[in-house]
Amino acid sequence: MPTDDKNKIKTVKRIAVLTSGGDAPGMNAAIRAIVISAQHYQIAVIGFCAGFNGLIDDMSMPLSVKDVANIIQKGGTILKSARCPAMKTPLGIAQAASTLLKEKIDALIVIGGDGSFAGLIALQQEWSGQVIGIPATIDNDIDGSDFTIGFSTAINTAIEAIDKIRDTAEAFERIFIVELMGRHSGHITFNVGIACAAEQVISFENFAHNNQTMGEQEKLLTLAQEIKLAQANRHASYIIVIAENVWQGGASVLARQLQDLAHIDCTACILGHIQRGGSPVAKDRILATKLGVGAVQAIIAGKSNIMIAEQNNTVAAVALQTAIMHQQGVSKSLIQAQENILALTAQRLC
Ligand code: ATP
Repeated sequence: MPTDDKNKIKTVKRIAVLTSGGDAPGMNAAIRAIVISAQHYQIAVIGFCAGFNGLIDDMSMPLSVKDVANIIQKGGTILKSARCPAMKTPLGIAQAASTLLKEKIDALIVIGGDGSFAGLIALQQEWSGQVIGIPATIDNDIDGSDFTIGFSTAINTAIEAIDKIRDTAEAFERIFIVELMGRHSGHITFNVGIACAAEQVISFENFAHNNQTMGEQEKLLTLAQEIKLAQANRHASYIIVIAENVWQGGASVLARQLQDLAHIDCTACILGHIQRGGSPVAKDRILATKLGVGAVQAIIAGKSNIMIAEQNNTVAAVALQTAIMHQQGVSKSLIQAQENILALTAQRLC
Protein backbone atom coordinates (compact mmCIF):
# COMPACT_ATOMS: atom_id res chain seq x y z
CA MET A 1 0.00 0.00 0.00
CA PRO A 2 1.42 3.47 -0.83
CA THR A 3 2.58 5.47 2.23
CA ASP A 4 0.10 8.23 1.41
CA ASP A 5 -2.79 5.81 1.66
CA LYS A 6 -1.55 4.53 5.02
CA ASN A 7 -1.55 8.06 6.46
CA LYS A 8 -5.07 8.85 5.28
CA ILE A 9 -6.55 5.53 6.48
CA LYS A 10 -6.19 6.69 10.08
CA THR A 11 -8.76 9.42 9.40
CA VAL A 12 -11.27 7.18 7.61
CA LYS A 13 -12.65 4.61 10.00
CA ARG A 14 -16.26 4.12 9.03
CA ILE A 15 -17.99 4.47 5.71
CA ALA A 16 -21.66 4.03 4.94
CA VAL A 17 -23.35 2.90 1.76
CA LEU A 18 -26.93 2.97 0.51
CA THR A 19 -28.77 2.19 -2.73
CA SER A 20 -31.39 4.69 -3.87
CA GLY A 21 -33.89 5.31 -6.67
CA GLY A 22 -34.81 2.59 -9.18
CA ASP A 23 -32.88 -0.62 -8.52
CA ALA A 24 -30.42 -1.65 -11.21
CA PRO A 25 -28.72 -5.01 -11.82
CA GLY A 26 -25.17 -4.70 -10.53
CA MET A 27 -25.96 -2.69 -7.39
CA ASN A 28 -25.08 -5.77 -5.32
CA ALA A 29 -21.78 -6.15 -7.16
CA ALA A 30 -20.96 -2.53 -6.25
CA ILE A 31 -21.84 -3.08 -2.56
CA ARG A 32 -19.63 -6.18 -2.55
CA ALA A 33 -16.68 -4.33 -4.07
CA ILE A 34 -17.03 -1.48 -1.54
CA VAL A 35 -17.11 -3.84 1.43
CA ILE A 36 -14.20 -5.99 0.29
CA SER A 37 -11.96 -3.07 -0.65
CA ALA A 38 -12.82 -1.22 2.57
CA GLN A 39 -11.85 -4.34 4.51
CA HIS A 40 -8.55 -4.34 2.62
CA TYR A 41 -7.89 -0.84 3.99
CA GLN A 42 -9.27 -1.79 7.45
CA ILE A 43 -12.27 0.50 7.17
CA ALA A 44 -15.62 -0.61 8.64
CA VAL A 45 -18.71 -0.42 6.41
CA ILE A 46 -22.34 -0.06 7.39
CA GLY A 47 -25.29 -0.17 5.01
CA PHE A 48 -28.39 2.01 5.35
CA CYS A 49 -31.60 0.31 4.19
CA ALA A 50 -34.25 1.45 1.72
CA GLY A 51 -32.49 4.43 0.18
CA PHE A 52 -32.42 7.72 2.06
CA ASN A 53 -35.23 6.41 4.32
CA GLY A 54 -32.67 4.30 6.14
CA LEU A 55 -30.55 7.35 6.72
CA ILE A 56 -33.43 9.47 8.01
CA ASP A 57 -34.78 6.70 10.27
CA ASP A 58 -31.36 5.28 11.21
CA MET A 59 -32.01 1.79 9.85
CA SER A 60 -28.57 0.32 9.30
CA MET A 61 -26.66 -2.91 9.35
CA PRO A 62 -22.96 -3.68 9.54
CA LEU A 63 -21.61 -5.13 6.32
CA SER A 64 -18.80 -7.68 6.53
CA VAL A 65 -17.08 -9.58 3.76
CA LYS A 66 -19.23 -12.56 4.76
CA ASP A 67 -22.42 -10.54 4.23
CA VAL A 68 -21.51 -9.80 0.63
CA ALA A 69 -20.50 -13.34 -0.35
CA ASN A 70 -22.52 -14.77 -3.21
CA ILE A 71 -24.30 -11.57 -4.18
CA ILE A 72 -22.34 -10.50 -7.28
CA GLN A 73 -24.72 -12.48 -9.50
CA LYS A 74 -27.95 -11.24 -7.88
CA GLY A 75 -30.25 -8.57 -9.28
CA GLY A 76 -31.98 -6.02 -7.01
CA THR A 77 -30.09 -4.83 -3.94
CA ILE A 78 -29.51 -6.49 -0.56
CA LEU A 79 -29.85 -3.05 1.04
CA LYS A 80 -33.26 -2.50 -0.64
CA SER A 81 -34.03 0.69 -2.49
CA ALA A 82 -36.84 3.20 -2.30
CA ARG A 83 -37.91 6.71 -3.18
CA CYS A 84 -37.77 9.02 -0.17
CA PRO A 85 -39.77 12.25 -0.57
CA ALA A 86 -38.68 13.38 2.93
CA MET A 87 -35.12 13.78 1.63
CA LYS A 88 -36.34 16.70 -0.47
CA THR A 89 -37.27 18.65 2.68
CA PRO A 90 -34.94 20.60 5.04
CA LEU A 91 -36.13 18.46 7.97
CA GLY A 92 -35.35 15.20 6.16
CA ILE A 93 -31.86 16.41 5.25
CA ALA A 94 -31.22 17.53 8.84
CA GLN A 95 -32.33 14.11 10.15
CA ALA A 96 -30.09 12.32 7.64
CA ALA A 97 -27.12 14.46 8.69
CA SER A 98 -27.84 13.82 12.37
CA THR A 99 -27.83 10.02 11.78
CA LEU A 100 -24.47 10.23 10.04
CA LEU A 101 -23.03 12.18 12.98
CA LYS A 102 -24.54 9.77 15.50
CA GLU A 103 -23.15 6.76 13.65
CA LYS A 104 -19.72 8.47 13.37
CA ILE A 105 -19.61 8.06 9.60
CA ASP A 106 -16.61 9.57 7.81
CA ALA A 107 -17.87 9.07 4.25
CA LEU A 108 -21.14 8.16 2.54
CA ILE A 109 -21.36 6.32 -0.79
CA VAL A 110 -24.70 6.48 -2.62
CA ILE A 111 -25.32 4.03 -5.44
CA GLY A 112 -28.12 5.40 -7.61
CA GLY A 113 -29.21 7.79 -10.33
CA ASP A 114 -29.34 11.55 -10.79
CA GLY A 115 -32.07 12.08 -8.18
CA SER A 116 -30.00 10.22 -5.61
CA PHE A 117 -27.01 12.40 -6.47
CA ALA A 118 -29.18 15.51 -5.97
CA GLY A 119 -29.91 14.10 -2.50
CA LEU A 120 -26.17 13.77 -1.84
CA ILE A 121 -25.55 17.35 -2.95
CA ALA A 122 -28.31 18.58 -0.63
CA LEU A 123 -26.90 16.54 2.25
CA GLN A 124 -23.53 18.15 1.84
CA GLN A 125 -24.98 21.48 2.96
CA GLU A 126 -25.71 19.95 6.38
CA TRP A 127 -22.96 17.38 6.85
CA SER A 128 -19.22 17.81 6.47
CA GLY A 129 -18.25 14.16 5.79
CA GLN A 130 -17.14 12.95 2.35
CA VAL A 131 -19.87 12.14 -0.19
CA ILE A 132 -19.34 9.90 -3.21
CA GLY A 133 -21.83 8.79 -5.89
CA ILE A 134 -21.72 5.61 -7.97
CA PRO A 135 -23.89 5.76 -11.12
CA ALA A 136 -26.39 2.90 -11.12
CA THR A 137 -29.56 3.23 -13.13
CA ILE A 138 -30.86 1.27 -16.08
CA ASP A 139 -31.61 4.60 -17.82
CA ASN A 140 -27.92 5.48 -18.47
CA ASP A 141 -28.88 9.15 -18.06
CA ILE A 142 -25.87 10.31 -16.05
CA ASP A 143 -23.35 12.75 -17.53
CA GLY A 144 -19.64 12.02 -17.34
CA SER A 145 -19.79 8.23 -17.31
CA ASP A 146 -19.73 6.18 -20.49
CA PHE A 147 -22.17 3.74 -18.91
CA THR A 148 -24.15 3.35 -15.72
CA ILE A 149 -24.41 0.12 -13.75
CA GLY A 150 -27.49 -1.83 -14.88
CA PHE A 151 -27.84 -0.37 -18.38
CA SER A 152 -26.19 -3.29 -20.19
CA THR A 153 -28.30 -5.88 -18.37
CA ALA A 154 -31.49 -3.92 -19.02
CA ILE A 155 -30.88 -3.69 -22.74
CA ASN A 156 -29.98 -7.37 -22.94
CA THR A 157 -33.19 -8.28 -21.09
CA ALA A 158 -35.26 -6.15 -23.46
CA ILE A 159 -33.50 -7.58 -26.51
CA GLU A 160 -34.23 -11.14 -25.37
CA ALA A 161 -37.90 -10.28 -24.88
CA ILE A 162 -38.26 -8.53 -28.24
CA ASP A 163 -36.53 -11.38 -30.08
CA LYS A 164 -39.33 -13.59 -28.74
CA ILE A 165 -41.97 -11.05 -29.73
CA ARG A 166 -40.39 -11.00 -33.20
CA ASP A 167 -40.98 -14.76 -33.60
CA THR A 168 -44.69 -14.48 -32.98
CA ALA A 169 -44.95 -11.20 -34.91
CA GLU A 170 -43.29 -12.86 -37.89
CA ALA A 171 -45.56 -15.91 -37.74
CA PHE A 172 -48.69 -13.74 -37.80
CA GLU A 173 -47.25 -10.89 -39.89
CA ARG A 174 -48.24 -8.60 -37.07
CA ILE A 175 -47.29 -5.11 -36.01
CA PHE A 176 -46.13 -4.73 -32.40
CA ILE A 177 -45.53 -1.56 -30.44
CA VAL A 178 -43.12 -2.31 -27.60
CA GLU A 179 -42.76 0.27 -24.85
CA LEU A 180 -39.42 0.49 -23.12
CA MET A 181 -38.25 2.16 -19.90
CA GLY A 182 -35.91 5.14 -19.72
CA ARG A 183 -37.92 7.87 -18.04
CA HIS A 184 -36.83 10.89 -20.09
CA SER A 185 -33.92 9.46 -22.00
CA GLY A 186 -33.85 7.22 -25.05
CA HIS A 187 -30.65 5.26 -24.37
CA ILE A 188 -32.55 2.02 -23.78
CA THR A 189 -34.99 2.58 -26.65
CA PHE A 190 -32.34 3.45 -29.23
CA ASN A 191 -29.90 0.73 -28.32
CA VAL A 192 -32.58 -1.94 -28.08
CA GLY A 193 -34.27 -0.74 -31.27
CA ILE A 194 -31.05 -1.07 -33.23
CA ALA A 195 -30.09 -4.40 -31.69
CA CYS A 196 -33.53 -5.85 -32.45
CA ALA A 197 -33.68 -4.41 -35.96
CA ALA A 198 -36.88 -2.57 -35.07
CA GLU A 199 -38.58 -1.02 -38.11
CA GLN A 200 -39.36 2.15 -36.13
CA VAL A 201 -37.67 3.74 -33.13
CA ILE A 202 -39.79 6.39 -31.45
CA SER A 203 -37.82 8.26 -28.84
CA PHE A 204 -37.18 11.77 -27.51
CA GLU A 205 -34.06 12.22 -29.59
CA ASN A 206 -35.69 11.60 -32.98
CA PHE A 207 -39.48 11.56 -32.96
CA ALA A 208 -40.22 14.25 -30.38
CA HIS A 209 -37.33 16.40 -31.55
CA ASN A 210 -37.88 16.14 -35.33
CA ASN A 211 -41.62 16.71 -35.08
CA GLN A 212 -41.63 19.56 -32.59
CA THR A 213 -44.01 21.74 -34.58
CA MET A 214 -46.50 18.97 -35.32
CA GLY A 215 -49.61 18.33 -33.25
CA GLU A 216 -50.46 14.86 -31.92
CA GLN A 217 -52.86 14.17 -34.82
CA GLU A 218 -50.32 15.14 -37.44
CA LYS A 219 -47.64 12.97 -35.83
CA LEU A 220 -50.07 10.07 -35.82
CA LEU A 221 -50.89 10.53 -39.49
CA THR A 222 -47.22 10.64 -40.45
CA LEU A 223 -46.57 7.46 -38.48
CA ALA A 224 -49.60 5.73 -39.99
CA GLN A 225 -48.44 6.67 -43.51
CA GLU A 226 -44.96 5.34 -42.84
CA ILE A 227 -46.31 2.04 -41.51
CA LYS A 228 -48.71 1.63 -44.46
CA LEU A 229 -45.99 2.44 -46.97
CA ALA A 230 -43.61 -0.01 -45.39
CA GLN A 231 -46.18 -2.77 -45.06
CA ALA A 232 -47.60 -2.53 -48.58
CA ASN A 233 -46.74 -5.77 -50.40
CA ARG A 234 -44.59 -6.84 -47.47
CA HIS A 235 -45.65 -9.96 -45.64
CA ALA A 236 -43.55 -9.62 -42.56
CA SER A 237 -43.50 -8.55 -38.96
CA TYR A 238 -43.14 -4.89 -38.04
CA ILE A 239 -41.81 -3.79 -34.69
CA ILE A 240 -41.98 -0.29 -33.30
CA VAL A 241 -40.05 0.38 -30.11
CA ILE A 242 -41.20 3.42 -28.19
CA ALA A 243 -39.72 5.16 -25.15
CA GLU A 244 -42.03 5.56 -22.16
CA ASN A 245 -43.28 9.14 -21.77
CA VAL A 246 -42.71 10.05 -25.42
CA TRP A 247 -46.33 9.47 -26.48
CA GLN A 248 -49.17 10.64 -24.27
CA GLY A 249 -50.81 7.53 -22.80
CA GLY A 250 -48.02 5.25 -23.97
CA ALA A 251 -47.98 2.28 -26.33
CA SER A 252 -51.56 1.12 -25.60
CA VAL A 253 -53.03 4.50 -26.50
CA LEU A 254 -50.87 4.72 -29.62
CA ALA A 255 -52.05 1.27 -30.76
CA ARG A 256 -55.68 2.27 -30.26
CA GLN A 257 -55.21 5.57 -32.08
CA LEU A 258 -53.57 3.87 -35.08
CA GLN A 259 -56.52 1.47 -35.24
CA ASP A 260 -59.12 4.25 -34.97
CA LEU A 261 -57.43 6.62 -37.39
CA ALA A 262 -55.97 4.35 -40.04
CA HIS A 263 -57.33 0.83 -39.36
CA ILE A 264 -53.82 -0.31 -38.56
CA ASP A 265 -54.07 -3.38 -36.37
CA CYS A 266 -51.24 -3.52 -33.89
CA THR A 267 -50.50 -5.05 -30.52
CA ALA A 268 -49.09 -3.01 -27.65
CA CYS A 269 -46.63 -4.62 -25.30
CA ILE A 270 -45.19 -2.86 -22.25
CA LEU A 271 -42.01 -4.56 -21.09
CA GLY A 272 -42.03 -2.68 -17.78
CA HIS A 273 -40.15 -3.84 -14.72
CA ILE A 274 -38.62 -6.98 -16.20
CA GLN A 275 -36.04 -4.52 -17.57
CA ARG A 276 -34.92 -3.75 -14.01
CA GLY A 277 -34.55 -7.31 -12.75
CA GLY A 278 -32.35 -10.29 -13.43
CA SER A 279 -28.80 -11.33 -12.88
CA PRO A 280 -26.35 -8.63 -14.03
CA VAL A 281 -24.44 -9.37 -17.22
CA ALA A 282 -20.63 -9.55 -17.08
CA LYS A 283 -20.26 -5.93 -18.20
CA ASP A 284 -22.33 -4.63 -15.28
CA ARG A 285 -20.62 -6.86 -12.71
CA ILE A 286 -17.20 -5.68 -13.85
CA LEU A 287 -18.21 -2.01 -14.09
CA ALA A 288 -19.78 -2.15 -10.61
CA THR A 289 -16.67 -3.76 -9.15
CA LYS A 290 -14.35 -1.17 -10.71
CA LEU A 291 -16.49 1.73 -9.50
CA GLY A 292 -16.95 0.25 -6.00
CA VAL A 293 -13.19 -0.12 -5.53
CA GLY A 294 -12.67 3.34 -7.09
CA ALA A 295 -15.10 4.88 -4.59
CA VAL A 296 -13.20 3.50 -1.59
CA GLN A 297 -9.88 4.63 -3.04
CA ALA A 298 -11.31 8.11 -3.67
CA ILE A 299 -12.40 8.31 -0.03
CA ILE A 300 -8.93 7.30 1.13
CA ALA A 301 -7.48 9.97 -1.15
CA GLY A 302 -9.64 12.53 0.68
CA LYS A 303 -11.98 13.26 -2.25
CA SER A 304 -15.60 14.32 -1.87
CA ASN A 305 -18.58 15.62 -3.82
CA ILE A 306 -17.75 13.44 -6.81
CA MET A 307 -19.18 10.56 -8.78
CA ILE A 308 -16.86 7.69 -9.60
CA ALA A 309 -17.34 7.05 -13.30
CA GLU A 310 -16.00 5.13 -16.25
CA GLN A 311 -14.52 7.10 -19.15
CA ASN A 312 -12.80 5.30 -22.03
CA ASN A 313 -12.37 2.20 -19.90
CA THR A 314 -10.68 4.18 -17.11
CA VAL A 315 -12.06 5.03 -13.68
CA ALA A 316 -12.57 8.80 -13.41
CA ALA A 317 -13.92 11.35 -10.93
CA VAL A 318 -16.70 13.71 -12.03
CA ALA A 319 -18.25 16.52 -9.97
CA LEU A 320 -21.70 15.47 -8.72
CA GLN A 321 -23.15 18.71 -10.12
CA THR A 322 -21.82 17.79 -13.59
CA ALA A 323 -23.19 14.26 -13.37
CA ILE A 324 -26.79 15.47 -13.06
CA MET A 325 -26.79 18.01 -15.88
CA HIS A 326 -28.50 15.82 -18.50
CA GLN A 327 -26.38 17.09 -21.38
CA GLN A 328 -25.08 13.71 -22.52
CA GLY A 329 -27.72 12.31 -24.83
CA VAL A 330 -27.88 9.29 -27.08
CA SER A 331 -24.94 9.21 -29.50
CA LYS A 332 -25.76 11.22 -32.64
CA SER A 333 -24.14 8.64 -34.90
CA LEU A 334 -26.47 5.97 -33.48
CA ILE A 335 -29.52 8.15 -34.20
CA GLN A 336 -28.34 8.93 -37.72
CA ALA A 337 -27.52 5.31 -38.48
CA GLN A 338 -31.01 4.26 -37.43
CA GLU A 339 -32.85 7.09 -39.17
CA ASN A 340 -31.00 7.27 -42.45
CA ILE A 341 -29.91 3.76 -43.20
CA LEU A 342 -31.03 0.86 -41.06
CA ALA A 343 -34.76 1.49 -40.70
CA LEU A 344 -35.33 2.57 -44.30
CA THR A 345 -33.40 -0.34 -45.76
CA ALA A 346 -35.08 -2.87 -43.49
CA GLN A 347 -38.58 -1.61 -44.20
CA ARG A 348 -38.28 -1.66 -48.00
CA LEU A 349 -36.14 -4.68 -48.68
CA CYS A 350 -36.76 -7.30 -46.02
P1 ATP B 1 -33.56 6.23 -11.26
O1 ATP B 1 -33.44 7.30 -12.30
O2 ATP B 1 -32.89 4.97 -11.67
O3 ATP B 1 -34.94 6.00 -10.76
P2 ATP B 1 -32.77 8.17 -9.28
O4 ATP B 1 -31.72 8.17 -8.24
O5 ATP B 1 -32.71 9.27 -10.29
O6 ATP B 1 -32.70 6.74 -9.97
P3 ATP B 1 -35.09 9.37 -8.06
O7 ATP B 1 -36.41 8.78 -7.66
O8 ATP B 1 -35.11 10.53 -8.98
O9 ATP B 1 -34.22 8.16 -8.60
O10 ATP B 1 -34.33 9.85 -6.72
C1 ATP B 1 -34.11 8.94 -5.66
C2 ATP B 1 -34.24 9.64 -4.34
O11 ATP B 1 -33.24 10.68 -4.26
C3 ATP B 1 -35.55 10.36 -4.10
O12 ATP B 1 -36.56 9.50 -3.67
C4 ATP B 1 -35.14 11.33 -3.01
O13 ATP B 1 -35.04 10.66 -1.79
C5 ATP B 1 -33.74 11.74 -3.45
N1 ATP B 1 -33.78 12.98 -4.22
C6 ATP B 1 -34.14 13.17 -5.51
N2 ATP B 1 -34.07 14.45 -5.87
C7 ATP B 1 -33.67 15.14 -4.76
C8 ATP B 1 -33.44 16.52 -4.46
N3 ATP B 1 -33.58 17.47 -5.38
N4 ATP B 1 -33.05 16.83 -3.19
C9 ATP B 1 -32.89 15.89 -2.25
N5 ATP B 1 -33.11 14.56 -2.48
C10 ATP B 1 -33.49 14.19 -3.69
